[in-house]
Amino acid sequence: PRVIFSGIQPTGIPHLGNYLGALRLWATLQNEEDEQTELFFSIVDLHAITIKQNAKQLQQWRKEMLASLYAVGLSPERSTIFYQSSVPQHSELMWILSCTASMGYLSRMTQWKSKLALPNNTSPLDPSPTGKAALKLGLFSYPVLQAADILLYRTTHVPVGEDQAQHLEFARELAIGFNHVYAPNSKGNVPLLVPPQIIMSPAKRVMSLTNPTKKMSKSDTDEKSRILITDNENVIKKKINRALTDSIEGVSYDREARPGVSNLINLIYHMDESVASSPEELAKEFDGMSLKALKEKVAETVEMHIHDET
Ligand code: ATP
Ligand code: MG
Repeated sequence: PRVIFSGIQPTGIPHLGNYLGALRLWATLQNEEDEQTELFFSIVDLHAITIKQNAKQLQQWRKEMLASLYAVGLSPERSTIFYQSSVPQHSELMWILSCTASMGYLSRMTQWKSKLALPNNTSPLDPSPTGKAALKLGLFSYPVLQAADILLYRTTHVPVGEDQAQHLEFARELAIGFNHVYAPNSKGNVPLLVPPQIIMSPAKRVMSLTNPTKKMSKSDTDEKSRILITDNENVIKKKINRALTDSIEGVSYDREARPGVSNLINLIYHMDESVASSPEELAKEFDGMSLKALKEKVAETVEMHIHDET
């Protein structure tokens, strides 16, 4: 039988990237998997403290994340929805896994490098915030805790966005390596740890509205960079209106040359994939449209869907 596990950090209200890349997929799986499939969705509060948090704020965010998961359609009657910190075995398995996890492999993970650049993560005492001295052990070993989250439930499938692909591959290899060391003879039968597979949503990487070469993130300090699932029509319009595009005339799809415009096209396409066969096709339909008109169309589509679906 399939076991599905995924997590989200209580670091703010979910945005369109979380929704299209993860939460909507979780709800679809919940509603479409057959009865025998087990589903686990965790609010991963232990991951949230890998960067500095305010205790009151974090408590609030935990509750808001639980409410958000219900809002997108997850149901405690079908899925196990829980706070990571209420199951101490996540931390216990993490320690065991840490004893076989490679520092070299961890140092190649790109996410901790991007989190190091966040303002509340730099120490005024450290002249080189990206240096080893400022790097916190928890932020560095985060993927080991994530592997423990997944492996604990003998998870077979993990629905996540593209930014987590590297961590998932790490979890797989950690499981395979652990089995090799501690159960080398259990070939094929019942593995000690189950190497999980990734399920990636078609909308695997929604980009920031203000810096479309970066992914949309809860922890981005610029609030205009993301649309929250709770934003009202006016706020959505304002944020899309200010989205960074370019000075090329008309609409065309080219993620390299026109990241801002392509992100907007992707938003419409992924909100409702029945509108066209691909983002490229959709862009052709919009040929000759002004960027202003494109933005209006994006705001309208986004508004309609998040208010129908959440
Ligand atoms: P933070 O900035 O605190 O890391 P986040 O926005 O990256 O927040 P997470 O809680 O780390 O969100 O991730 C939850 C899920 O959302 C993961 O499956 C992740 O892959 C997915 N996700 C996050 N951002 C995006 C994005 N921009 N596009 C698609 N999927 C995303
Ligand atoms: Mg993240």
